[in-house]
Amino acid sequence: MVDRRPLIAGNWKMNFDHLRSIAFVQKLAWTLKDAKHSAAAVEVAVFPPFTDIRSVQTTIEADRLEFAFGGQDLSPFDSGAHTGDISGEFLAKLGCRYVIIGHSERRQDHHEDDALVTAKTLAAIKHGLVPVICVGETSEDLEKFGASAVPVGQLRTVLAELPKDADIVVAYEPVWAIGSGQAATPAQAQEVCAALRAVIAEVLGDDAAAATRVLYGGSVKSINIASFMREKDVDGALVGGASLDVEEFAKIVQFPKHVIA
Ligand code: PEP
Repeated sequence: MVDRRPLIAGNWKMNFDHLRSIAFVQKLAWTLKDAKHSAAAVEVAVFPPFTDIRSVQTTIEADRLEFAFGGQDLSPFDSGAHTGDISGEFLAKLGCRYVIIGHSERRQDHHEDDALVTAKTLAAIKHGLVPVICVGETSEDLEKFGASAVPVGQLRTVLAELPKDADIVVAYEPVWAIGSGQAATPAQAQEVCAALRAVIAEVLGDDAAAATRVLYGGSVKSINIASFMREKDVDGALVGGASLDVEEFAKIVQFPKHVIA
């Protein structure tokens, strides 16, 4: 049985300039230190805007903070005439461990499809980054096809092109739950995360399925995180809005201490 270290990941989206990012990371560090948080028990990662990454990197490295960090997106290309884009090589050189790919806001705002998500995932792997591959259904999909069909299909398309030993994280994020305050039920999150793990087993093999962390994202807060983490196939959370409040995010990270009825 592979031990999957839970991952609590904060997607800051387009929030915090570089000065605020430094203050946030420092405050998160002392809040978790005071609470005697164990990084060995729960991994914490933050995903700042590109313009903050250097500041976050130097703060984390200078104070030897046990946080990982990553980009919110990357280009499928390595370099060249792609104005405004950021390559995986640049992110890797800044010490990023992770990169979010295929977030529903990128799929919606930038018309990213599964082919582009696949190309970006391959670029991440090429540069030694761990892609956090986001999949999820809209409310219309949910009504028409149920919860699993769309995210499973999205993931299958990406996985089909990956090397069998690819190190990935998968985030199940129902689009209707993102930023809406209406989270999925833990049972629904479990059902879809289990279906996603089954696809990983089918395409990349049982060992990969056992080792890969599958996160839930969508209106995660300190009051509901423990109920998701109780589910067998939920290995962490991708947190948007609640990751912008240090106290709230620190409480989410400390979910093992929560008592649930
Ligand atoms: C997200 O943007 O990935 C997300 C899950 O947002 P929120 O937690 O605000 O729903």
